[in-house]
Amino acid sequence: AAYEGRQVWIDGQLKPAAEASVSVFDHGVLYGDGIFEGIRIYHGKVLKLATHLNRLYESAKAIKLNMPYSPDEMFDAVKETVAANGMDNGYIRLVATRGPGTLGIDPVPCPRPCVYIIVAPIKLYPQEFYDNGLELISSSYIRVSAQAFSPRIKSLNYLNNILAKTEALEAGVFEAVMYNDQGHVAEATADNLFTIKNINSQPVVTTPPLTAGCLEGVTRGLVMDLARAAGLEVREANITRHDLYTADEMFLTGTGAEVIPVVKLDKRLIGPIAPGSSHAEGEVGPVTKQLITAFRELVKDAPED
Ligand code: PMP
Repeated sequence: AAYEGRQVWIDGQLKPAAEASVSVFDHGVLYGDGIFEGIRIYHGKVLKLATHLNRLYESAKAIKLNMPYSPDEMFDAVKETVAANGMDNGYIRLVATRGPGTLGIDPVPCPRPCVYIIVAPIKLYPQEFYDNGLELISSSYIRVSAQAFSPRIKSLNYLNNILAKTEALEAGVFEAVMYNDQGHVAEATADNLFTIKNINSQPVVTTPPLTAGCLEGVTRGLVMDLARAAGLEVREANITRHDLYTADEMFLTGTGAEVIPVVKLDKRLIGPIAPGSSHAEGEVGPVTKQLITAFRELVKDAPED
């Protein structure tokens, strides 16, 4: 198996991957009742581990899941799992389920969450997409309303996103834009979204506010910081479909994808229309390139927090 020789941390112990298992009565399996994090290892360092753990514990609090370990214990457990797998560059999946219980949805009879940590090689988008950009569609699936279930909770229920992802793949593209029930951009199926638009000849970087119904992406936060440090204006503001069609540049951010340019949406080329512009429609723009470079520099010496 692909995971042969790998060590999984589960409920406080490192075990060979084949021996690490979750109960068929676990509510994570039965109801998607649980939470998770996806984290990157760069050159042996875990990028923004404390920030990821903070988000995990916020998700836990929101769904009233009592983590059986403290954030410090989880911090050490992640580092221990990375070391046990001798992984210098890779991906960490940290999962906390509600644990095994009865067949009803009531979480109270689940006495103890199951917590596990997998370390794996990272599967990246082909380099071509970083060089030439991605094509997206607008999903027909509305992102679940923050009033119904906050997309800030990184839960084990990804069906809303999976339907949009499936729609994208069936349309022959890899990602889709998900709008909220107000028609504003929320995020992509597993990434946050940014636009760049020149306003009075100054590039303005915009991403939806958390209230639009997106995950508070760790990469989103890093990229906002990098953009501000580069002297760019950064806004968290609602974005409409028309704003996307008329943006000068667009990109997605995520732990897996990092910073990935978008050059086409719903068969419209993204790019400036004005003569004498910085780049042609359908080409990766200069601000996106600058932020990709800044991000690559940052992860060379991945700050753990
Ligand atoms: N939105 C969704 C729905 C996601 O699953 C992810 C990936 N975790 C993101 C945004 C990006 O967040 P991050 O930068 O923390 O990976």
